[in-house]
Amino acid sequence: MRQAKFETACLAIMLAMVLSALFFAFTLRDPLYLWYVGHVVAFAFFQLRMTSEIFRWLDGWPLMPDLALRLSDLALGISVFCAVRFAMIFLDTPRHFPKTTAWLVRIAWAMLIASVLSAMSRAPTLENPLSLAAIYLPQLQNFLIAIVSVVVVTSAIRGSWRGSKAANFYLASSLPLVLGGIFAALYAILVDANATFTPFLLPLAAFEAVVLSLGMADRALSLRQERDAARETAEHDALTGQLNRRGLMSRLEQAHISLQIAPETSCALLYCDLDFFKRVNDDFGHEAGDQCLKHFAETIQTVLRGNKDRRRARQTDYIGRMGGEEFIVLLHQCSADQALKVAARICANLRETPVRWQTLEIALTVSIGVAMLQRDAAPQAAIAAADAALYRAKHEGRDRACMAV
Ligand code: GH3
Ligand code: MG
Ligand code: MG
Repeated sequence: MRQAKFETACLAIMLAMVLSALFFAFTLRDPLYLWYVGHVVAFAFFQLRMTSEIFRWLDGWPLMPDLALRLSDLALGISVFCAVRFAMIFLDTPRHFPKTTAWLVRIAWAMLIASVLSAMSRAPTLENPLSLAAIYLPQLQNFLIAIVSVVVVTSAIRGSWRGSKAANFYLASSLPLVLGGIFAALYAILVDANATFTPFLLPLAAFEAVVLSLGMADRALSLRQERDAARETAEHDALTGQLNRRGLMSRLEQAHISLQIAPETSCALLYCDLDFFKRVNDDFGHEAGDQCLKHFAETIQTVLRGNKDRRRARQTDYIGRMGGEEFIVLLHQCSADQALKVAARICANLRETPVRWQTLEIALTVSIGVAMLQRDAAPQAAIAAADAALYRAKHEGRDRACMAV
């Protein structure tokens, strides 16, 4: 009775971990968690064969008298197969240990095939010609478990040596169960093929489930951080550190949605294009040109910073490099008059602060087209209007800001 209670407690812990892994599997769409679930469920099934009532009931099934035994053979193969797949992803072995990974895959498949054959070959009578296989296949399974455990643990130790956090989690969680598994497999090969180790393997499996769940939560957190960092990089321009076209377009879409929700707000768009920038590159070189682009981005920032107090900006303003020497500035809570003033200030500030390049000074000017984001027109319409105003500014002599009509 005490044994049954203990087993139930271990299984309850494993079930809780399986449910949380299933949640991760579906929310993160990461196959890792499904391999983990397959491993734990199949392992619990295999261990319970030895003791649980449900298996006695299965054993008594008239059509296939040793059904429970056959199923548990299969469960052992599935459990090991899933465990290997799980370890490969969790420890990222294809990237760090490609040769070992190829062997792991072969052994995992061999284990699965041996289990299927073993499940099929269990002979109800001794006259069955497959009965020899029934003796040797479980031995083969035990042998493969011992080999695969050693290979996986070695990979985890190598991973841990290289500073992998996942490998540390793996070792902390799985080492007791893997060592227990190796011991059980060797005992079965060398001493007694029918020995049962459920009482000490099941709590080790529960322990593994708890620590691995922590490891998987940690992995989910790092993946999220990596994704955020990748998104940040994908939305920024490497040269100026400002938003790139994609980043700015998404802010523009958001601004448009805000405008539709709160029509009393306003949002202005400045389309800036450096004047005769090709000449800068031709006269001073591309590197100097890049320096000018950075300088221009900083100039806009300086103007916006000095300007915010006056406009009492409620939200952040955005600067985006649309490509080449063209930038768009989004000004939240800004009227057309204010936007035109900001644009004029950017022109003046750039004109007055030439770029220092080696011993030289490079004079820069910019032309700017200003347009307001309209609630009932797509954001692209505001860009086109600002671009048309920019064209006018260029036409009227450059180094100036023009309002869209
Ligand atoms: P306009 O006053 O009519 O705008 O003349 P412009 O010379 O600025 O215009 P144009 O579009 O002909 O030239 C833009 C130049 O910007 C061409 C290219 O040499 C330069 N350019 C584009 N991207 C980069 C960049 O990333 N770095 C540098 N250094 N130059 C760039
Ligand atoms: Mg241009
Ligand atoms: Mg230009």
